[in-house]
Amino acid sequence: MIGEPFPPGKMLFWNRSSLLSSLPEVRLRYNSVASTLLVAAAVLSPAAARAQVAHGAEWKTTWGYQGDIGPDHWGTLAPEYAACNGTEQSPIDIRNAKKASLPLLRFDYSSGPLVIVNNGVTIRVNYPSGPSGDFLIAGDTRYQLVQFHFHRPSEEYIGGKPYPMVLHLVHKSSDGKIAVVAVLVRPGRANATVQQLWNHMPMTPGPDQPIPGVEVNPADLLPAGYAYYTYMGSLTAPPCTEGVTWIVLKSPMEISPAQIAAFARLFPHDVRPLQPLNGRLVQESR
Ligand SMILES: [Zn+2]
Repeated sequence: MIGEPFPPGKMLFWNRSSLLSSLPEVRLRYNSVASTLLVAAAVLSPAAARAQVAHGAEWKTTWGYQGDIGPDHWGTLAPEYAACNGTEQSPIDIRNAKKASLPLLRFDYSSGPLVIVNNGVTIRVNYPSGPSGDFLIAGDTRYQLVQFHFHRPSEEYIGGKPYPMVLHLVHKSSDGKIAVVAVLVRPGRANATVQQLWNHMPMTPGPDQPIPGVEVNPADLLPAGYAYYTYMGSLTAPPCTEGVTWIVLKSPMEISPAQIAAFARLFPHDVRPLQPLNGRLVQESR
């Protein structure tokens, strides 16, 4: 998954920025030198926008999927990314899962206003915190939907193989526990909600974009069945925080090959390599 559910500095920055203007010169005033260059480059050159470097305003230290700032270096890029060198990291190859009596999942999702962002590494839809929200209920725990985003191909492997894409729905409980639901994506029929997202996704990195008059329902991105695999892991992008409950739905959702291609044109490979299991238990619902 990409990004902390509630990046502390981020809301302040984006709120301030979006109040003022979406013009790059206004954003520049609030950015570090590094991200100033990044935004300028993204505005000047479509090639730079495709370089898949995390947008500097959201993360204090820039990271990416290639080269000196790629996954092999995340753990040493900044002290706050040290968990990336931890022993319970994600993603993993899911195999030899143990059948278990796991809690049923309930998704209390509904239609809401669309706020979408291209953060340089993925397309993400944000959900503001508040009492009215979208929830995942797993056993006794209720988690609120914070954001969802996509990877191409899937970060998680099932029995040694990735899927063409994956959707990560990031949730947080009132006491700070993180649960990420992964919905694997296979090519098939077009998904109307994904089409809405793609119609409004910013082509270059920038701040949150509220889309007036457009509502989406994340329930439309879920498969019919909620059987799942589960294990304890981490955020799959800096700061790689551990203690994340991963819930990987066994049934994939379908989107069309054209919809996969449209995402791939912006983000051809926004994926962290597989991480060692290190003896962790992987369970699957009966
Ligand atoms: Zn993700």
